[in-house]
Amino acid sequence: MAKHQIKSIGVLTSGGDSPGMNAAVRAVVRTGIKHGLEVYAIYEGYQGMVEDGDYIRKMNWDSVGGILHQGGTVIGTARCAEFRTREGRRIAAKNLIEHGIDSLIVIGGDGSLTGANVFRQEWPELLAELVQAGEITQKQADRHPYLMLAGLVGSIDNDMFGTDMTIGADTALHRITEAVDAITSTAASHQRTFVIEVMGRHCGYLALMSAIAAGANWVLIPESPPESDHWEDDMCQALKASRETGRRHSIVIVAEGAQDRNGKEITSEYVRSVLEERLGEEARVTILGHVQRGGAPTAFDRNLGTQTGHAAVLHLLNSSPEDEPQVIGIHENSLTTAPLMDSVRKTLQVAEKIAAKDYEAAMTLRGSSFKDAQRTFNTLVQAQPRGAVAGQKQLRILVMNCGGPAPGMNTAVRAAVRLGMDKGHTMLAAQNGFRGLLRGDIQEMNWMSVSGWVGRGGAELGTSRKVPRDSEMPAVAQILEQHNIQGLLMIGGLSGYEAAYKIFMRSGDFKVFNMPIVCMPASINNNLPGSEHSIGADTALNSIAFDVDKIKQTAVASRRCFVVEVMGRYCGYLALMSGMATGAERVYMHEEGVTLADLQKDLNNLIAGFEHNKRLGLIIRSESADLFYTTPFIASLFEKEGGDLFDVRQAILGHVQQGGAPSPFDRIQATRMAARCIEFLSREAGKVSPAGAFIGLQMGQYTFTSLGDFPRMVDAEFSRPKEQWWLKLRPIASMMSEPDPAD
Ligand code: ADP
Repeated sequence: MAKHQIKSIGVLTSGGDSPGMNAAVRAVVRTGIKHGLEVYAIYEGYQGMVEDGDYIRKMNWDSVGGILHQGGTVIGTARCAEFRTREGRRIAAKNLIEHGIDSLIVIGGDGSLTGANVFRQEWPELLAELVQAGEITQKQADRHPYLMLAGLVGSIDNDMFGTDMTIGADTALHRITEAVDAITSTAASHQRTFVIEVMGRHCGYLALMSAIAAGANWVLIPESPPESDHWEDDMCQALKASRETGRRHSIVIVAEGAQDRNGKEITSEYVRSVLEERLGEEARVTILGHVQRGGAPTAFDRNLGTQTGHAAVLHLLNSSPEDEPQVIGIHENSLTTAPLMDSVRKTLQVAEKIAAKDYEAAMTLRGSSFKDAQRTFNTLVQAQPRGAVAGQKQLRILVMNCGGPAPGMNTAVRAAVRLGMDKGHTMLAAQNGFRGLLRGDIQEMNWMSVSGWVGRGGAELGTSRKVPRDSEMPAVAQILEQHNIQGLLMIGGLSGYEAAYKIFMRSGDFKVFNMPIVCMPASINNNLPGSEHSIGADTALNSIAFDVDKIKQTAVASRRCFVVEVMGRYCGYLALMSGMATGAERVYMHEEGVTLADLQKDLNNLIAGFEHNKRLGLIIRSESADLFYTTPFIASLFEKEGGDLFDVRQAILGHVQQGGAPSPFDRIQATRMAARCIEFLSREAGKVSPAGAFIGLQMGQYTFTSLGDFPRMVDAEFSRPKEQWWLKLRPIASMMSEPDPAD
């Protein structure tokens, strides 16, 4: 069948609300308008579709302005019993036909998507009935013979197939991690035990990931109940052992749907009573409840909503009526489509497997990354500062930071030290990168020296950008030899990679350099080769997005344009991603350069916008976008040329971007990568020529790239990787904040 030209789209949010839904609605509306479609928002989910009246509203470019940063869904959501009935759907069809709506983008969970699919299948029959009853004309029915459908998954639980991440899950993880951090500090003060219940009836994603991010001692999730029938003993033993190492608090995270192997519910209250009875100390329960749903969406959720909303419209424009409806999601930083009902079926299957106590199958359905995260968590909580481990060569491993400070460095060091000690290695740390190393400032770490580091910002070990000169290499070798170093873990940025590369390349000259070396990417700039993400970049991105939200609020009454400068050196990652997350009109970055013609064009756009009652302008400039067209220059230029029409303020965000507690994503990646790095060093140590490599997260997998490839992969002049995956997002980011095409 030929491609069917859709004319107008209805977008709705349905079921439970989730942060980031607004970004998706905004993207659907603007992409639709840009492609000449009429776009209607259907308020209050299916309820609005059935009731019509004022609930189905035509949107224009500006109706979705100023919503990107808001939590929840501004178009409302509801559960609607009527839509579950055929009669309800018949009324809904009539209402859509009256507005000329012939395609739907539904943002919701498996229930909402199932409902949409039923509706789509019934559409021709419903229209025939409506014609027969004289409620619509044959002509109206003929104009819209099909209902086209695409689904986006809005859910905080991250429980749906067809996407690696659902819209809202990252934000919920932020809320939970903040809460667990807060509880941990009070628990530590009083040496208390806390049981924290988080959402997730059939899905342990939030529980497991927050347990890793917040350094909890135990976690209970629905898909993977404790192995043993005596799990209570195991849990108490682990908590006791952790106290014996000197820890002042114990935190157990329980997903609301947790159960044991026999299918018996494990409530947070039960866990509390077990802990109190067996450990003989007071334990408290905190049920986090609806705070987990609330609040402003994270940069990730805004950008996920934007990308998938945009893609959903393009998908509908390119679909035929006989095509199976799809869910638009994300997999390994790329947009994906997956058959909608197949995704719903697989999602429901997890719950069925859990109900049937087939936990193996439930975990397999969750996928390998989830299993891997669980393995890392289990290793960490069971890890003990044990001595020799049979069959494992015991090493003296040096951990150090190098480069600018990146939130998450402490998390990585903590995991590396504990996991290293658990394998029987001796873990040492150099202070202040190579500056400290060259002074011989190296100490042995112990279990408690990294206590509390999981969520601590900054770099407790200190860091510096010092790269040893060639003439200093003998001194580096001498110090490493003095401490009998047999493996090196460098956590840091480009200067750290450069230093590690130099050591690796001189392994023929200095015997001690012939050891396994591994670099872990930690830089807010996200400018390291061999990894799509570096530790710290997600934290910085959120810090920028929330600061820009605040800056925008100061322009309530006046016509004002802000020029905000963000870090990144020659890499535009932070600029582009924060621009997308905050709705910046323009992003200047070095990869594209800035010309006088660009400035003139952007100025003209600003003038035209403010002449049309625009109140606020936002430009984001990456710090090294251009040597001459600096932030103050651009601000002065626009201020002068804006005349009385608008004024301009500049904001150079500066070092706040490097600070703050690491985001859950950065903590989780730091922990998981550290586990892989320790495995790598342990494995390579036995070889005649141990490898030197940098770890990365690429296409959803942890990869090791040889240090020998470093020069080939980096643009030496501009200190950034030659390949940067995120540049492909540039057209979407700019389209979303273009001036209203109707002006
Ligand atoms: P979620 O989308 O978050 O899973 P629900 O399961 O509550 O949330 O579904 C939201 C709404 O979607 C319901 O209130 C109902 O209107 C509609 N819906 C859900 N399942 C169906 C179904 N099988 N048939 C028709 N409509 C449905």
